Amino acid sequence: MEPRKTDFDAIVIGAGFAGLRMLHELRELGLSAHVFEAGSDVGGTWYWNRYPGARTDSESWVYAYSFSKELQDEWNWSERFPSQPEALAYLQHVADRFDMRRDISFNTRVESASWDERANLWTVRDGAGRSYSCRALISAVGVLSKPYVPPFPGIEKFRGEWYVTGRWPKERVDFAGKRVVVIGTGATAIQAIPIIAQTARHLTVLQRTPNYVLPARNGPLTEEERQAIRRDYDAIWQQAREHFFGFAMDPAGRTIADVTPEQHQRILERGWETGGFRFIFESFDDIFIDERSNEVACEFIRNKIRAIVKDPATAELLCPKDYPLTAKRPPLGHYYYETFNRPNVSLCDISSDPITELTERGVRTATREFEADLIVFATGFDAVTGTLMAMDVRGRRGVTIARKWQDGPRTHLGIMVDGFPNFFMVLGPQSPFANIPVVIDGMVDWIGRALRHMREQGLATFEAKPEAVEAWRKHVDQLVNATVLAKGRSWFLGDNIPGKPHVTLFHFGGAGVYRRECLAEAERGFEGFVGSKG
Ligand SMILES: Cc1cc2nc3c(=O)[nH]c(=O)nc-3n(C[C@H](O)[C@H](O)[C@H](O)COP(=O)(O)OP(=O)(O)OC[C@H]3O[C@@H](n4cnc5c(N)ncnc54)[C@H](O)[C@@H]3O)c2cc1C
Repeated sequence: MEPRKTDFDAIVIGAGFAGLRMLHELRELGLSAHVFEAGSDVGGTWYWNRYPGARTDSESWVYAYSFSKELQDEWNWSERFPSQPEALAYLQHVADRFDMRRDISFNTRVESASWDERANLWTVRDGAGRSYSCRALISAVGVLSKPYVPPFPGIEKFRGEWYVTGRWPKERVDFAGKRVVVIGTGATAIQAIPIIAQTARHLTVLQRTPNYVLPARNGPLTEEERQAIRRDYDAIWQQAREHFFGFAMDPAGRTIADVTPEQHQRILERGWETGGFRFIFESFDDIFIDERSNEVACEFIRNKIRAIVKDPATAELLCPKDYPLTAKRPPLGHYYYETFNRPNVSLCDISSDPITELTERGVRTATREFEADLIVFATGFDAVTGTLMAMDVRGRRGVTIARKWQDGPRTHLGIMVDGFPNFFMVLGPQSPFANIPVVIDGMVDWIGRALRHMREQGLATFEAKPEAVEAWRKHVDQLVNATVLAKGRSWFLGDNIPGKPHVTLFHFGGAGVYRRECLAEAERGFEGFVGSKG
């Protein structure tokens, strides 16, 4: 029998932050690589999420690539938290600057990928029925890339316009003079609400669970600040790589027990004024792990909400009361709470009066109907596993990834799955929850090491051992149970999707710790993995 033709050494699925970084690494390794992207351009998250107000919650100087000094030196972020157009422009610039587009097929959705046991190749099929073969298949499909809209009955009856934040159209959406209903108060809604409120005739926000919204304190970067960042870039990146959540921040160096109650308030006030996640990470080191410390920060935020929002009933509705700060990812607000002081904005609690259907006129709950000209579904994502499990990915003996993970995802290092040889994931489940560019950089570096190891050892296959996968599951379970997260319900644990297993989707041991765990695994000769020469 003729050996099967190999189209590429490696195929990457997705041309977002991770896919572009992976393509760069593969080229550095001298491998032939191709990227398939469902969208018509690069950008991923920043291509699809064009809703008003979309921007990063990571500070711009660490929401970037670190692999090229020239890129760092020539790119100018205009703000502390870049807007969606700017984040997209950055990724477009990277694609152009490194001449990446010639290796990317756009408007091409990968529908399936199957492992050919005899040829030791992956066969990848796209939506047009074309197929390609490759030795290594790399998923860079994103952690927040499958928007979730609950199956509300009656959507087809609604006579107005409706949009989903995670699939926002490229054309401008006009809210002027319209009655707008926003469903959801997660991170995307929190960014969109203040902007929509500026022009809508009336904005009704339907809230199921309030969030702890931290003020972003966004603003333009001055030329001096940009120069200072450039000067300190290496140190900034070193700091971000070591930081628990991948940010260029130092630990606070104190816990709540170290200072008096008066000092708590002063320290938290300083964090609140500094803005962003610095409120959490530069105030006390035990907010994420100690319930008492956490509650001090929660009550501080509730008091801020009560001070900002003039209507006491609305303020109370906006106060989260039954879960700790960080049990859900805290969003950053850009005058979010202040928006509820506008006369054209109202907040309605639907936690005990849930939506039953959409009607011709709007949204109906058991007791009320909210009339709308335009509805925004800001109802979240089937996070981390949703996009990958929707694809028909088959490993050894035709087992699909969806079946393999029916009781929850299982991986080694969040990168490989037993029974799926030569299949790598950038940001796979059970990899760290942290500032994503930092995590991507470490994971891509590790995949590069593994591919080099395969080449040096003449390996045709490389895959995780089942016992290493089981050990990683126990490890990530232990890590999450040591945090306040275990006390809440969140998309971190799959709780926003009916029927999704309640297990941690992330490694909560810190980005720096994770990076060292990965490096140690490589240095021990990839002992959690098995290879064969074919
Ligand atoms: C609104 C929003 C704000 C965010 N802000 C931050 C932030 O401040 N900091 C942070 O660290 N993270 C943030 N994130 C997380 C964000 O997803 C990551 O920072 C980063 O963009 C992920 O890059 P990625 O390449 O892994 O995935 P994505 O950017 O999601 O890209 C995945 C790509 O894969 C493509 N794809 C998927 N399936 C297929 C298929 N079958 N065939 C072909 N192509 C496919 C998609 O079209 C997409 O382009 C945010 C997410 C959202 C939604």
